[in-house]
Amino acid sequence: MQKPIKIGCLGEVMIELIAQEGDSARIGVAGDTYNTSVYIKKLCKEDEIQVSYITALGTDTFSQRILSNIKQHGIQTDHIEFRDNRMPGLYAIETDTEGERSFSYWRGEAAARTLFEEPCTIKPEAMSEFDLLYLSGISIAILPEETRNRLINYIGDFRKNGGKFVFDSNYRPRLWGDTKTAREVTMQMWSLTDIALPSLDDEMALFNDANEQAVLNRLIQAGVSHGALKRGMDGPKAIGEAVIQESFEPVTNVVDTTAAGDSFNAGFLYKHAMGEGLAQAMLSGHTLASKVIQQSGAIIEIE
Ligand code: ADP
Repeated sequence: MQKPIKIGCLGEVMIELIAQEGDSARIGVAGDTYNTSVYIKKLCKEDEIQVSYITALGTDTFSQRILSNIKQHGIQTDHIEFRDNRMPGLYAIETDTEGERSFSYWRGEAAARTLFEEPCTIKPEAMSEFDLLYLSGISIAILPEETRNRLINYIGDFRKNGGKFVFDSNYRPRLWGDTKTAREVTMQMWSLTDIALPSLDDEMALFNDANEQAVLNRLIQAGVSHGALKRGMDGPKAIGEAVIQESFEPVTNVVDTTAAGDSFNAGFLYKHAMGEGLAQAMLSGHTLASKVIQQSGAIIEIE
């Protein structure tokens, strides 16, 4: 039997509070790269792909809640660092009377920010077992400069040893000290990327690009040769390779766009890992994202 493909997804998984009627709230577990890891597992038949989540958690009850959520989804937990003095980040979602959602975050002291910070038992080198390593601009923005640079250096080695690096810039201005750093680090990441999964909105917001072509030109100039540009209801566009562009059906009854990009990435990476080409990977990403945005919440049942 062939060994399963191993994918490592790195970042921050948070406690989610969803305000309900009156004074109550529902507790969930979510985060951008985490949502992607969950959806990859949901798409897999049995153990055709092994997915690990790479992060740091605390030893408190909320961290335990996150840990059991990770395990419940069949995701490996042996790349998780545990910190006695830290807890997970938290965010709350409130919906106003017009149905408009707003997000509040408490994540400045989150355990995930201490990933790879010495002393640590999980070192970047431990990721050499993965065939694909996926992280986002959020994963990298939350790390202090020193560990961020250590991770970036490691990604170079990871690629030299045959690993494929996957990146989504997922730009969140509040997580970066300043725009200049955000731009420099993001371009450095693109220059290391084997599979690029940016969204048009994020790239235009960060780099002030005039249009889609300017985004594509900049990415290609950075060395990106494979991936998909996510363009909301217009569907994805292939990066770097000529594919007969399929037209992608827009969804008209959008309920909640949370995790549209994260689920797209999962659909794309699932097909890529199974050996399919770019056109099939884009269609798979678009099909999954289209389902996700027709229901409320980041994680939906897809059977
Ligand atoms: P992000 O959530 O990262 O901002 P997008 O909004 O571009 O990303 O959405 C990611 C993907 O989800 C798109 O490339 C597309 O495939 C799908 N998608 C998003 N909005 C729609 C829509 N209204 N109809 C159909 N597909 C959509």
